[in-house]
Amino acid sequence: MISVQEALSIILSQSRNFGNTAVSINEANGRVLAEDIHADRDYPPFHRAAMDGFALRSIDFLEKSIRTYEIIEDLFAGGTSTLQPKEGQCLRIMTGSATPEVYDAIIRIEDCQVEGQQVTFNISALKKGQNIARQGEDAQAGALILTKGTRLFAPEVSALAVAGRSTVLVHQFPKIAVISTGDEVVPVGQDIQPHQIRDSNSYALASFLHQYGLEIAYRKLIRDDKELLRHAIQEVLTYDLVIFSGGVSMGEADFIPGVLADCGVQPLFHKVKLKPGKPLWFGKLPAGGVVFGLPGNPMSCQVCYKVFIEPFIRKCFGLSAALTLQLPLLIDKKKNAKLDQYFPCIIEGKGIRPVVINGSGDITSTLRSHGLAVHPLDALDLTAGDPVEFIFW
Ligand code: AMP
Ligand code: MG
Repeated sequence: MISVQEALSIILSQSRNFGNTAVSINEANGRVLAEDIHADRDYPPFHRAAMDGFALRSIDFLEKSIRTYEIIEDLFAGGTSTLQPKEGQCLRIMTGSATPEVYDAIIRIEDCQVEGQQVTFNISALKKGQNIARQGEDAQAGALILTKGTRLFAPEVSALAVAGRSTVLVHQFPKIAVISTGDEVVPVGQDIQPHQIRDSNSYALASFLHQYGLEIAYRKLIRDDKELLRHAIQEVLTYDLVIFSGGVSMGEADFIPGVLADCGVQPLFHKVKLKPGKPLWFGKLPAGGVVFGLPGNPMSCQVCYKVFIEPFIRKCFGLSAALTLQLPLLIDKKKNAKLDQYFPCIIEGKGIRPVVINGSGDITSTLRSHGLAVHPLDALDLTAGDPVEFIFW
């Protein structure tokens, strides 16, 4: 049996670029950028007034010690000024205006006393350049402001708008199939018998995928029947990502590995030193896509997604690995299996507390958690205070 690290490197080696597509800036949220974005001009594009107040020549204030000035003009954001100030003259200026070069300081309105066309400044110190955002101080024309492989959220979409990009190149979405299997599994919304289980895994997967804007193009629930399974696989042979849930363990009705091999899907590994999630199956479709066979237990399914499928998707999109934190465990934890153990935890104060679990079939344990922590395969018992790796759901 291979380790989680070995399994992950096999999975990541199968990552593929799904191609690029141009979308409108209005559709860009959550997408992954497929081009570098440069500032098309300086930002700020002019010496921007950062306060409402009065613009003056600092030399008048600092060297000539003038405190009362004549207001020669009003300048609003979006406007331009026409007059040249002489000694002791100033400009009434509003935030966001393009400050003429000749003025090199702004005194905010709160520090002034205005009488008609005269203003007196009630301050003793003045710094050249104060309250003026210099042209290009934030970003210079041509500067790289967004790099490919960045996910676009509010700050990034804002930067696209600043750079004048009404359309942008992003990574295309993969074609995804999710196939739940099991004679005991029934769809949500259908009458259910005491010995049956509702299909929750396809919903968990749909929700996880949705975090990346991904939709499931082919979604089915199939009995443990080789013929029906074969038929389903035939229908998704050209997909980029196929996810099975259930049917990969050692039971008499766990047909997935055999049926996948019959259909020409190349097995790359079966079983990983992971708890929960040991029966994971992974292979490659003849057309280049990949197939994950996840164990059916809800917790195993969710852990396998976080540990293997999400990193695969991120790699395909050129994204770096998801954020992990090192957080201290709040209680002792025994090591009881030579496997990487992933356990749901809640963040509490400055540390994390494992939630109580009965087993990987639990449906409530992940609900009560913020994410998963890892007790690595070769680690010993953990004591309260020990840092552990934590990933958010
Ligand atoms: P399997 O991996 O097929 O042996 O299934 C392991 C356990 O997961 C069984 O108790 C199944 O009833 C349960 N299970 C399988 N598929 C699903 C599903 N789609 N949603 C919720 N539970 C499932
Ligand atoms: Mg089953």
